[in-house]
Amino acid sequence: MADFDFDLFVIGGGSGGVRAARVAAAGGAAVALAEEDRYGGTCVIRGCVPKKLMVFASTYSQAFEEAREYGWQVTSGAFDWSAFQTRLEGELDRLEGVYQRLLDTSGVTRFSQRAVLKDAHSVQLADGTVKSAKHILIATGGHPVKPDLPGAELGITSNEIFHLEDLPKRILIIGGGYIACEFAGILNGLGVEVCQWYRGAQILRGFDDEARGMIADGMIQRGVDLQLGTNILEMGRAEDRDNASGNAPAFDGTPGTGGPIWVKSTNGDEMVFDQVMFATGRAPNARQMGLEALEIEIGRRGEISVDQFSQTAVPSVYAIGDVTNRVNLTPVAIREGMAFVETVFNGTPTPVDHELIPSAVFTQPEFGTIGLSEEDARAKEPIEVYATSFRAMQQSFVDREDKVLMKLIVSVESRKVLGCHIVADHAGEMIQLAGIAVKMGATKEDFDRVCAVHPTMSEELVTMKTPVRIS
Ligand code: NDP
Repeated sequence: MADFDFDLFVIGGGSGGVRAARVAAAGGAAVALAEEDRYGGTCVIRGCVPKKLMVFASTYSQAFEEAREYGWQVTSGAFDWSAFQTRLEGELDRLEGVYQRLLDTSGVTRFSQRAVLKDAHSVQLADGTVKSAKHILIATGGHPVKPDLPGAELGITSNEIFHLEDLPKRILIIGGGYIACEFAGILNGLGVEVCQWYRGAQILRGFDDEARGMIADGMIQRGVDLQLGTNILEMGRAEDRDNASGNAPAFDGTPGTGGPIWVKSTNGDEMVFDQVMFATGRAPNARQMGLEALEIEIGRRGEISVDQFSQTAVPSVYAIGDVTNRVNLTPVAIREGMAFVETVFNGTPTPVDHELIPSAVFTQPEFGTIGLSEEDARAKEPIEVYATSFRAMQQSFVDREDKVLMKLIVSVESRKVLGCHIVADHAGEMIQLAGIAVKMGATKEDFDRVCAVHPTMSEELVTMKTPVRIS
């Protein structure tokens, strides 16, 4: 270590960077970490955590209605956005403190400022200080991107949604991916009129078609005005456009401020919304990091190119998480961080396993999924499809139309379950458990050998006897 200030310098204090830093430090390495924003990164500060808390908040409107059907005398009242925001901020402050303390108690030196690469073994901090390290780990995450269209600067992204002063009465959400669909459900549940435009034929491209269809139906049934095959062409300030009053509130350049927004769609429709939210994808934070000078390769989508050990073309520099644009999920970044420490500090070269990763999309209805979709599996080999769709007991009792989907894709040859797809309340919780079996290589017959837990929704996963399709 004598030649370097640190054994490891981590750039980025999100889930992946913090985990790698503290595990390396716990093993005895001298570690530093730089974070230019808040500790905890996208997941804790402006992603998974506040989003899931908003999901919880948004489901009470339906819960109140159902409670009445179950005999409770409840009046729901209005949702108090500012009371929720205050509580949310408090929770995020608490979690950020936890992240900081985890680093401090592990002995990691923190620099709360931006750091960029200077050369293969040193970083430069925003205050001009240069620190050297034997290894450098880049874990700078990603950021939301907006399409290049007239007026796009007026729209917000998932970064701003948590900080709006007031909930809009009417919002347009652009996109059909995770974030667009999750926020359509959240805002709809909070009482906002939600219109969602997606350019493709069905939301959640890449997932199982049957599940996508059922989620879209469920969202529409709950009140989201989902318009497929529709995109935004241009947008502007409504008052500027009419120009009748000539006293439009000033737009100070902060997305989300300054009055109603006029939008024009590819179908020729013109509408006015209080807010327009772009959920049109995210890009890696790899620019202006000093990578180009070091000849670290940047891929087609702006990501840092790494090998299976998260190592870049410069042997002392590694990268993990969203900045590498492999599988952009928090638990994956954490695993990549752990594998990096195993490889570099514990002498056990550990490739990152990106196969069969279970995940959940917190749409309403919720989606839990692992493995191949029916369409992808069929393209690879002969399959049997086991699927059942039904009204769950809890909702059937109150005459709600919501449908649940339990679906298994099975290899005809190996009998292995290649994919499991669940659309249901708490599907995220269910897929975590089903995912263990699928990852272990369980066959359909292994599923069948398990006794049902009754009465539950997920018992259907072990009671489906006859394939609905063989192909
Ligand atoms: P996604 O890539 O999931 O979705 C982006 C959406 O925007 C797609 O529907 C895409 O359409 C559309 N789009 C892209 N460019 C344009 C454009 N120019 N005009 C109109 N529409 C456009 O990105 P998200 O931002 O939703 O999420 C980013 C990532 O974050 C996810 O991929 C996921 O890895 C992660 N995430 C995970 C969550 C979870 O685990 N629950 C929750 C939230 C995020 P098309 O399909 O046609 O390309």
